[in-house]
Amino acid sequence: MKLYYHPDQERHAPPTFLLRGAPAPSPEGPKRAELLSLGLAQAGLSLSAPAKADTPRLRERLGRIHSDRYLDFLETIHARWQALPGAAELVAPNVHPCGGGHHYPRHPVGQAGWHLHDMACLIAADSFRGILASAASAEAAAEAVLGGEPAAYALCRPPGHHAGPERAGGFCFLNNSALAATVLRERFARVAIVDVDLHHGNGTQDIFYARGDVWTGSLHADPADFYPFFWGGADETGEGEGQGANLNLPLPLGSDGVAFLAALERLLAAMAEFRPQALVVALGLDAHKDDPLAGLRLETEDFRAIGARLAGLELPTVLVQEGGYPTESLADNLHALMAGFTAA
Ligand SMILES: [Zn+2]
Repeated sequence: MKLYYHPDQERHAPPTFLLRGAPAPSPEGPKRAELLSLGLAQAGLSLSAPAKADTPRLRERLGRIHSDRYLDFLETIHARWQALPGAAELVAPNVHPCGGGHHYPRHPVGQAGWHLHDMACLIAADSFRGILASAASAEAAAEAVLGGEPAAYALCRPPGHHAGPERAGGFCFLNNSALAATVLRERFARVAIVDVDLHHGNGTQDIFYARGDVWTGSLHADPADFYPFFWGGADETGEGEGQGANLNLPLPLGSDGVAFLAALERLLAAMAEFRPQALVVALGLDAHKDDPLAGLRLETEDFRAIGARLAGLELPTVLVQEGGYPTESLADNLHALMAGFTAA
């Protein structure tokens, strides 16, 4: 299997985020890549770098899932922010168009509030380079599958599934899983995205909500009690041409692997009716019982079962890393998933 990680991804490493109103060390940092690489090594797998982290082709593909003004914002906001009198080193929003808003602002503070959904998406000087490199890894994995590989993996950090057409949220800026699906769509008419992250993949859902060519399904802790709070209900089923092509299966907080695997079966049964020709797995590992974001209670062995089940679909597959935060189990969880996937 081909596996990708670009060293520039380390350039995005904001030290803090806001947790229950208090600044806290960010769990989404380079340490994750270290632990995830260790898990891959334990599974006998090694990473290689995509040839380039920034190409016109990547930018063009990103333009199919994100708005131009959002991409411009991500690239230019840090420098414009620094030019404001008294600005902090990190771009952080302090005003939001809650309930909507009619006008897209010109001012950097207004734009930060428009595009940055929460306080887990702080932007440092080198962030854009790291964010783009993460997307380049997803693109490289999808291209490997387009080139005939049965499966490929991208160690994407920062992750992507909370990033919508023009919104960053939950540590996510560019939607790497949606990008992988976009690349697969260049050859496959129908692509499915299965999101097994602890959190609802709200950005992915928003990007494809009105499209009938990319099916999206997500298993996650019930958003009534959990981030991202405002999306992820079972009644969100798509609209227009996308009606019926989005499935959410929220699980009660604290659900275990038995409940998760049963829900995965339901999700895959619904996905089969769509008859996908290729698959993207939005591969979060934060549903593990020890994850600091603490929502579900999967064991390490449950990830082996998830990997085996997904490989059993026998579809061309791109595995895109989403969440999963530093614990003693993180490397083991990815090891178990990859062992299950490659043994099937
Ligand atoms: Zn997550």
